[in-house]
This record gives sequence, structure tokens and C-alpha cells, in this order.
Amino acid sequence: MEKDYAKYSKYIGKLTRDLRSAYYSTATDEERQEIPLEPSELNAKQGLGNFPAFYLQGQHCEKSDCGCCTNCFYSQFQYAKPSPKEIEAQCDYLLDNFERLVLSQQYGKNDFYGEKKFPNSKPVFLTLSPTGSFFSEKEFPRDVRLRVLKKLEEKAEELQRDIVLHIEAHAIDVFRYRDYILSSEESEILRKLNAKCILGFESVNEWSRNVLYNKHLPLEIFKNAIDILKNAGIQPGAFVFSGFITYTDTESKEDMLDSIEYLSKNGVFPVLMFANSQAWTLPDLLRENEIHKLQEPATVLDTVYSALDIITNNGKDKQNYWLIPEPVEGPPYPDGNIFYDRKDIEDFSEETSKKIHQILKDLRDTRDIDEFKKKWESFRKNNPEYKKYINRIKKQEQNKDDKELRLARTLNFATDHMKDYIEYRKAKDEEEKENEEDRYKI
Ligand code: SF4
Repeated sequence: MEKDYAKYSKYIGKLTRDLRSAYYSTATDEERQEIPLEPSELNAKQGLGNFPAFYLQGQHCEKSDCGCCTNCFYSQFQYAKPSPKEIEAQCDYLLDNFERLVLSQQYGKNDFYGEKKFPNSKPVFLTLSPTGSFFSEKEFPRDVRLRVLKKLEEKAEELQRDIVLHIEAHAIDVFRYRDYILSSEESEILRKLNAKCILGFESVNEWSRNVLYNKHLPLEIFKNAIDILKNAGIQPGAFVFSGFITYTDTESKEDMLDSIEYLSKNGVFPVLMFANSQAWTLPDLLRENEIHKLQEPATVLDTVYSALDIITNNGKDKQNYWLIPEPVEGPPYPDGNIFYDRKDIEDFSEETSKKIHQILKDLRDTRDIDEFKKKWESFRKNNPEYKKYINRIKKQEQNKDDKELRLARTLNFATDHMKDYIEYRKAKDEEEKENEEDRYKI
């Protein structure tokens, strides 16, 4: 990383750590001991695709300890000493309740390409992962993983249906455990489960990835991890993020498209993430003080529109896989989302925003790209609010400062307002405590 970049990354890391420590200090000992029996669940309308996602509760993401990543509040999890037994119990709960939790949660269309073992039945899709990394020994120990994957394989046989398992991992873990991932009983089973491994990536741009998002991820490590997964016969995917602090809407869109271009060239499918606002994070501190805004709803759809052109090579390769998690949901459930209840939205009424969101939801449900394009083209042509939006974002580009200056100013502001923000959040958490079933669960 360039020297100046490292300076900013350190600064952002410190602010993120300070916010997390302040949050952790609000937990009682009791809360920190009670590791749930069930994994956190996002149903089929909330997850990565049209299938449910299960996140293991217990050990929080290891990377979060060093101040990664600016927008993430997954790292809220800070249970005291979770044991492998407790992690396995959550997997067993999922397997024991497979009909209710997984089979009844297959929704809309899901794309299966490749060879099926059970060609006459519909495959079952799901995500099962710790919040940080599937291959982290702390979050999901190897022997537990192997037992769980074997049970999933048995489940596929019992149901006579193929399983498509999505897992999430850190590139550094794939790199660290490369020999094991390249050749082990576990990777053999992962192949049988049609596993897709989604790596945290966020952006191909160094400034976006390692400064604004503070990912601590050298591009070389990511490239290596991709090669390892491909050689192991596990399909690689990557999270791509849009809505970094200090970026304009146009910059957010361009950044995401550059990253998708890069992933497409390297045979990695993208998972398009659009930033919401998570409590106890730097973007939330800035947003509460009206220094940072979420993107406009139309920016999200314009980005998706162009992204799909790249992913499908302008419609020529329709079998290329992609995912767009529902941007209104978590995890964890956001404090502010792009489409609803926004004070800082500039160009769209709540009603129009709802229509825009519906077009995206239809795309997610049907995965019909042609239909989506028709709807979005018609919206752009006929909606007067869209013209207003285009004019404003053009002006925004003409009046913006240098990116480094913008960041330096933003970080100084955050430092000055940290204390007040922590007080505000603590009071808000206290107020909302009674409504929350379990505030440590996503
Ligand atoms: S984004 Fe991923 S790697 Fe970063 S802190 Fe969150 S869970 Fe950990």
C-alpha cells in the first residue's frame, strides 16, 4: 500500500475500533455468554439470492479486531468464548429442521448451471457460513465443518436433490489453507455440494478497498485465492461494494462497474452489495451528522443495469452467475436503507423510491434480465424525477473536491464528533432495548 494510503487506513481503523469498543462496552456479561442454539437466519426474500442464508453465531470475524471494515457491523458479535460444540449445535439445528428452514424457503428462480446428480429434481440452494470466514479455524473449526458437510451430503442423498451451497470466506484464509483446500476430503464434499465460495473483495480500486473500506486485502492475495478455489473445483464469487464514504453517486457507480469488469475477466461471479447504514459504524456517524448520504435509489438501478451488461457480455453469456442481496435487509438489519424512510434523499419521492425498489425486487425474483431492462428503460424515459436526478448528479461531479481532501476533512469531522455520537447511540440502544428479542443476533 502507498505510504499515504496506509496513514488513512490506520486512521479509519482506529475510528472503527473505537466505535466497536464503545458498542461492546454496552453489553452485559449475561448477553455475552448466551450463545444461541439457532444460527441467524435471513429468509429467501432477504438473503443473497432466492434462498435462505444462515450465519453461525459465536466467534466474531477475526479481521474485525484490526479495525476492518468501515461499513461492517457484522462485527457486533462478541460472544464470550464460543465453543466448537455450540457452533456445531447451530448446524445440527439447521439440519434437524431442514424442511421448515431450507426446503420451504426456496423462492422465485435460482440458476443452476452444470451437471446435476439428480437431474429430475429441483436443486436446493442455501448459504451456510460464519459471519467472517468459512475457513477460519476460530469461527468454524475444520473437524466441525467436515462433520457438517458430510451431513449435508447425506441430506442431498436422502432428498435425492442436488444441494448448491454458498459459503463466505476471507481470501487470506483460502491462501493460508491452500494445500488443504486443494486436496482434502472437505473440498471433495464441497465439490459434491456444488459449493460457491464468495470472498470479501469490495473493489478492485486500492483507494476504495484498502482505504475507504479498510479491507486490509492486497490484490495479489485475492488473485491467489481465486486461482486456488478454481483449482480446487470450487466456483469463486466476490462481494462488490457500492456506497463508500466520501464518494459521489457517479463515483460509486463507476467504481462498482470497474470491479465487475475485473471480476468478469477473471472468471469470478459478483455479488452486488449496496451500502445501507449500520449503527455504530463510521458511515453512520457521518450520516447522523449529515456529512454522508446513502446513494440515490436510481443510482442503484443504473449500476445494476450496466453491471448486467458486463456480466452477460452484452447478453451473449446469459449463463454467467450473479447475485444481488436484497438491499433493504441486513445483516444486520440496517438503521437506514437506500429505498425507505430517508431524510437525505434528494430527487425521489417515497412513492417513486418504492417503484424503483419493486423493479429491483422483480429482477431478483425472476432473474429475467431482458424484462428488467425494459422496465428500467421505460422508467428512465418517463419519470420526471429521474431527469432532475441526472441534472443534479452531473452538477455534483463539477463541484467536487479532490478525493484525499474530502477524506481528510471527513475524518477530522468524525474525530471531533465521536464522543457525541457514542452518547447518542448508547441512548438510542437503551431506548430500543426492550423491543429487541436479542440485540446480538442479526
Ligand atoms: S466485512 Fe467481512 S471481513 Fe470485514 S469486518 Fe465485516 S465480516 Fe469481517
